[in-house]
Amino acid sequence: MIAQFAPMNIPGPLILEWYAREGRKLPWRDTTDPYLIWIAEVVLQQTRIAQGISYYYRFIGRFPDVRSLAEAEMDEVLKYWEGLGYYSRARNLHAAAQSIVNEYGGEFPTHYKALMKLKGIGPYTARAIGSFAFGNATGVIDGNVLRVMSRVLGDASPVNQQRTRERFQEIIDQWVQGIDSRGFNHGIMDLGSVLCTPTKPGCMICPLEGICEARQQGTTHLLPVKEKKAARRIRFFFFYLIRNAEGDLLIRQRPPKGVWGGLWEIPNREVAPESWEKRKQQQEGVFLFSGKHVFTHFDMQYAVFDLAEGLGPLRGDELYVSPEQRERYAFPRAVLNMLEEAQVR
Ligand code: SF4
Repeated sequence: MIAQFAPMNIPGPLILEWYAREGRKLPWRDTTDPYLIWIAEVVLQQTRIAQGISYYYRFIGRFPDVRSLAEAEMDEVLKYWEGLGYYSRARNLHAAAQSIVNEYGGEFPTHYKALMKLKGIGPYTARAIGSFAFGNATGVIDGNVLRVMSRVLGDASPVNQQRTRERFQEIIDQWVQGIDSRGFNHGIMDLGSVLCTPTKPGCMICPLEGICEARQQGTTHLLPVKEKKAARRIRFFFFYLIRNAEGDLLIRQRPPKGVWGGLWEIPNREVAPESWEKRKQQQEGVFLFSGKHVFTHFDMQYAVFDLAEGLGPLRGDELYVSPEQRERYAFPRAVLNMLEEAQVR
């Protein structure tokens, strides 16, 4: 059963009025081109806006429309994604661009339900494109919006639970009926980002102060509620810097699917957690440094060694590259960081 809202408690007009005055000016908000909106949304998943803007411009500079992306080589798309992480996003962009060209004649489907059938386009991105490009009457929920909704509704249900998200989706879909969904969705996201912040929300200047349950009950510091997650898994790896007599670096290509699919890395091997410390002492070569990299589903603890000689004959997926040649290959951010910390030219 979805709550019914008295007209005075519907935040739509308040948010639209606030957004018109205070909304952030972002490059992808000046357009209704679904391709540009799509690229921006995917770049910004897991990436802060300040960092994402330069990647966005670089990407659309090389792939300005869906056809240029569909026709590009996968290796080049990965190269333009290098450093952003979560490389399945780049592979999915490429696959979905090909579907749009081959199955839809290069035109985006205009409803979010049809958009969701494309590879890598989940409910959030589909609703964002549907609203921002085509004006679909649907709410777009990100982490900022969940926080605003939890407080405005005074709702202590864990926001990281699927059933809470589904209920909030139904509520926000009511809120956008009959109004400018584009302005509303941008507005509520901005409000969560700049006013309804996790700590010290700016309630005194918030347009929703009069209808916000948490503000009226003094519970803003208690909301939103998040259910505790299980401890993250840690996997342990040794990475090796190996150079030939000319000083070229040995690199290796990952299989096309899975973690870092299709990208290049330096040779490495996974080590059992219980023998990590002992084997670190026994490793051949010079220990350089250790570090940690966070993936979506696990943390990687790694140690980097400088090896005088290779681990055996070259495999089919390995090659030696000079510093200039290395520029042509796409590496994951973690490996780029290792090369930088080891001061590999
Ligand atoms: S009144 Fe305060 S808690 Fe409520 S939405 Fe505004 S900033 Fe957030």
